[in-house]
Amino acid sequence: MKNNIIELAQNLIRRPSISPDDQGCQQVIAERLEKLGFNIEWLPFNDTLNLWATHGNSAPIVAFAGHTDVVPTGDESLWTYPPFSAEIVGDMLYGRGAADMKGSLAAMVVAAEEFVKANPNHAGTIALLITSDEEAAAKDGTVRVVETLMERGEKIDYCMVGEPSSTQKLGDVVKNGRRGSITGNLYIEGIQGHVAYPHLAENPVHKAVLFLHDLTTYQWDNGNEFFPPTSLQIANIHAGTGSNNVIPGELFMQFNLRYCTEVTDEIIKNKVAEMLAKHGLKHRIEWNLSGKPFLTTPGKLVNAVVQSLEKVAKITPQLDTGGGTSDARFIALMGGEVVELGPLNATIHKVDECVNLTDLATLGEVYQQMLENLLNQ
Ligand SMILES: [Zn+2]
Repeated sequence: MKNNIIELAQNLIRRPSISPDDQGCQQVIAERLEKLGFNIEWLPFNDTLNLWATHGNSAPIVAFAGHTDVVPTGDESLWTYPPFSAEIVGDMLYGRGAADMKGSLAAMVVAAEEFVKANPNHAGTIALLITSDEEAAAKDGTVRVVETLMERGEKIDYCMVGEPSSTQKLGDVVKNGRRGSITGNLYIEGIQGHVAYPHLAENPVHKAVLFLHDLTTYQWDNGNEFFPPTSLQIANIHAGTGSNNVIPGELFMQFNLRYCTEVTDEIIKNKVAEMLAKHGLKHRIEWNLSGKPFLTTPGKLVNAVVQSLEKVAKITPQLDTGGGTSDARFIALMGGEVVELGPLNATIHKVDECVNLTDLATLGEVYQQMLENLLNQ
């Protein structure tokens, strides 16, 4: 299994698939799976390639999800080994995408292959959902595949996303949820004028002060067992022309909330509107929702993954919902259970990105054991 995973990971890393250009990675995977009887479906949207491969026709659907695209390398001369050469040094495999996430992608594909070879008539369906735009816009990838599946009345019951979740040791962290992220772009209007004639102007900074106090001190919630409390941060604020004798005509501010499952984007928008109204501020506001929060409470999938890690890797993972957003937020919209488990994230998006080969082999065994637990018991 180990050599199989390494070879596939190297093959994928040698294709410079800067988001959203797949560079033939998904073709390599599709050809392998097709040989084992997987049904291959291509779901391209605009410049993004998506693969939906399935084996079996019944419920439950257990899916692996991942992406073939990588972030740019930056200055290649800073890399110890060329970023698309997939160099192996000792027990480490180097290259852009080694940890995020061509390594775990290779582990998933080989785990699915091994499981199907050993259990050709397994219960349920094994699926792979692979996209090429996770790192960039994330508009034509997983989200569109999920929409397509939902339109057809199909639903992923259990989904393993291969994002690099581990921090110190393989399997020490499994992500079972993510916070939501929403941004507000707020323009508070005043009337520009001469500072010597304030009665002819209206200063939006002065008018906004008490509102800002309310906004930044409001306690949205207390968090819960799985999430820290919702937090609002002002990221940008600006008013004024640069001159000391002009009262600004407008104040712009941008704030972002990382929010937990105790509130919703609707609750947040309504509360901000209420604060603006309380202070009588003339304004306009644009909201940008990057992702709703989701949570997979310990149940069948979490248990299957924890048991697999304990059995194969001899480690009990910590369940965690920290970090930024990932494509898991889209898959969770289907209402199934979603978790993320992948290799160490210490070098992702960095120069000299690398992954440990023993970890990849262990990861493949854990993925395969997870299939055993979900489909063969
Ligand atoms: Zn990733």
